[in-house]
Amino acid sequence: MSERERRPGNRSAEALRLVSVSKVYGAGDGAVTALDGVTLSLPAGSFTAIMGPSGSGKSTLLQCAAGLDRTDRGQVLVGGTEMPGGGEAALTRFRRERIGFVFQQYNLLPTLTVEENTALPLRLAGRKADPERVRALLAQVGLGDRLHHRPDALSGGQRQRVAIARALVTRPGLLFADEPTGALDTRSARDVLGLLREAVCLHGSTVVLVTHDPVAASHADSVLFLADGRLAGHLPAPTAEAVAERMTHLGDRVAARGTGSGPLTGV
Ligand code: ADP
Repeated sequence: MSERERRPGNRSAEALRLVSVSKVYGAGDGAVTALDGVTLSLPAGSFTAIMGPSGSGKSTLLQCAAGLDRTDRGQVLVGGTEMPGGGEAALTRFRRERIGFVFQQYNLLPTLTVEENTALPLRLAGRKADPERVRALLAQVGLGDRLHHRPDALSGGQRQRVAIARALVTRPGLLFADEPTGALDTRSARDVLGLLREAVCLHGSTVVLVTHDPVAASHADSVLFLADGRLAGHLPAPTAEAVAERMTHLGDRVAARGTGSGPLTGV
């Protein structure tokens, strides 16, 4: 990182920043602390995987970082701009302009064609659908000959590729993928992970991948580990073996927590 990028005033190279983010579900005796003071920074153009045991707070982190849910404490900044407080409308607009999503279950609308599904985020944002861009994206994900098919005529891997094209159509700076390969066979999963990498390389997006699969995580530039709602480690240039090894030892890290899990940077 250059001196200029390191200066606190320069946010342009930072895609996502979380500052002491906490989230508690419920109240009183039944309260569950899902996120407990998470601070992290992801540079623009990075590809980061978030891993952790079930219940460690991965989904909550994604929901809060993507503005799908509100934090209880702390700040979320996307591209240097703080997530808007107040009404739902401002938050929805913020999300639509800056953030793309890919979910495990694709979330395509069954009555719309592949082309219409892909253009939908533009329509929802009140922007003009650009048929050429939609078709170019679908060609890039290998579905240039499926424009008029409906989702039920596609395989799981093909549906997820439509979902990636749809996520990229608004040119989001930040793309969140929540277990995008969870329902796919090995080959389709590899294709989808390759497309997420292309989102970084070709479209300049910053990708955050939530997964429980060490092989999927190894496609990222680095892995952030969560345990018990706290950051519990950072692994740059991950291999599947190294990720699996870290996951095995996460229990030990949780036991030792409080011994210095400070702010982490996913570089
Ligand atoms: P992960 O995605 O790593 O499995 P989650 O973020 O889903 O973890 O959950 C973190 C913790 O918060 C868990 O203990 C879970 O039971 C709890 N939790 C998540 N969502 C809710 C909710 N809507 N209401 C109550 N507890 C929740």
